[in-house]
Amino acid sequence: MIDPQEGNRRHLTGDEIASLIAIVGERNLALEREDLEAYSRDGTQGLSGWPAALARAGSTAEVASLLAFCNGRRIPVTPQGGRTSLSGGAIPVMGGVALSLERLNRILEIDEENGVAVVEAGVITQTLQEAVEARGLYYPPDPGSRGSCTIGGNVAENAGGPHSAKYGVTSHWVLGMEAVFAGGDVVVTGGKTRKDVAGYDLTGLLVGSEGTLAVVTKAWLRLVPKPVSYGTLVAPFPTLHAAARAVVEITRRRLVPAALEFIDRPAMEVSSARKGVGVPFPEAEARLLVEFDGGGEAEVERDVEAAGGIALDCGAIDVVLATDEAKRRLLWEVRRGIGDAVRDLGPSVELDLAVPRTELAALVEGVRRIGYAAELRVVVFGHAADGNLHVHLFHERESKGDRARFQATVGAVYAEAIRLGGTVTAEHGVGLTSRDYLPVLRSPAYLEVLRAIKSALDPNGILNPGKLLRP
Ligand SMILES: Cc1cc2nc3c(=O)[nH]c(=O)nc-3n(C[C@H](O)[C@H](O)[C@H](O)COP(=O)(O)OP(=O)(O)OC[C@H]3O[C@@H](n4cnc5c(N)ncnc54)[C@H](O)[C@@H]3O)c2cc1C
Repeated sequence: MIDPQEGNRRHLTGDEIASLIAIVGERNLALEREDLEAYSRDGTQGLSGWPAALARAGSTAEVASLLAFCNGRRIPVTPQGGRTSLSGGAIPVMGGVALSLERLNRILEIDEENGVAVVEAGVITQTLQEAVEARGLYYPPDPGSRGSCTIGGNVAENAGGPHSAKYGVTSHWVLGMEAVFAGGDVVVTGGKTRKDVAGYDLTGLLVGSEGTLAVVTKAWLRLVPKPVSYGTLVAPFPTLHAAARAVVEITRRRLVPAALEFIDRPAMEVSSARKGVGVPFPEAEARLLVEFDGGGEAEVERDVEAAGGIALDCGAIDVVLATDEAKRRLLWEVRRGIGDAVRDLGPSVELDLAVPRTELAALVEGVRRIGYAAELRVVVFGHAADGNLHVHLFHERESKGDRARFQATVGAVYAEAIRLGGTVTAEHGVGLTSRDYLPVLRSPAYLEVLRAIKSALDPNGILNPGKLLRP
């Protein structure tokens, strides 16, 4: 387990505090413990790190001045959006300044002709989605946290979500951004142009850079027409294997679900209980939530019928269709509620693994085998079409002094995903929690390139230090 207090926590002198106040204003610089508490944590269980100060920047110019000042004084700066990160990414483990983008929360433009939204980094993802949907447009990346995460955070983590199955992750939707580098330089990497290959792909580099290379202040996002029809079903399966086989079969038969989610029995039980609804087919070991969307009802109905047939062929106990919007919403509420419900079960570590789709069953079985051998409770759910599973390992026993054994089990699970041709994080980012497993996945030469990029763009290492790479 990473010790978040490993770094020398940077404090601020009175004169540094005065300079920061001159940049963001007294009302937007917090120093008191009660004001800093929420900014010392993100969505990651069991990790925290106190900033010396919280700065709420109100403009790109303020972000630029603040970074230039902190760079000169070697003060760590941790960018923060909605603080929903599940990899410890937004935790100011080295102290210094927590730089919140929450005041940069304006949707600047929805350009219907070009199909582009221009937004500030602190806009809440769901707020943008609702605004564009009111105009018949669609911004698909939909992390389970979309009601509280921000576009800046989504860009920094290259976030995904259930509808990545058809629409891909955030990087597919970012045409350009305004970003501030460590020395305070402001760079615009693209704009409303759909195709632009002038120079190295800086947009691509900064998407997923986890606040370690630059602070995103604005983004140009691609929009598409909002689907007019949805068809949604749930298929319970007697075994994990049968569910995993249906995932592969659905895609092998050239169906393109908008979402294809995997939910194991414990995940279904806790989320349904939290929502106060029963669990139909309680004997099912796993279930798939499958959704199609499109421009016409006939096409969507045809695909739903085909997927239901495949599920039954693969051994599903039944296929339950969401026959109206209220039922569809309920299914999604139970699915989206899993993350919070699982966290209510007690302290756990969440791994964000991905393997080729064909290895899904092997991954679930491997994870359970390793977890059960260590007498751990295991919960698995996730975005099956992307081969992306969120694995919770509960460490009730850690207090009894077997922390090392627990860590070894976590390491074995990561190793299993890599052995199956997978990765240590599919969408939550490396942050703190997967940092020590990155060298297991990537070669020394790969890591050298990462270090070279980091030191070229942030030579003093002030941006989100301690994340992604060990200092
Ligand atoms: C219940 C729940 C469900 C979730 N479901 C999903 C899911 O389905 N898919 C998924 O991908 N993730 C999911 N997440 C994880 C998390 O919501 C995403 O990683 C999200 O993108 C984080 O956005 P944020 O605004 O909260 O960023 P934060 O948590 O504040 O920050 C995340 C990282 O981005 C950096 N950062 C934030 N803003 C900026 C900026 N403007 N410029 C530069 N760096 C910045 C931070 O330094 C940090 O490294 C879930 C989290 C929760 C709690």
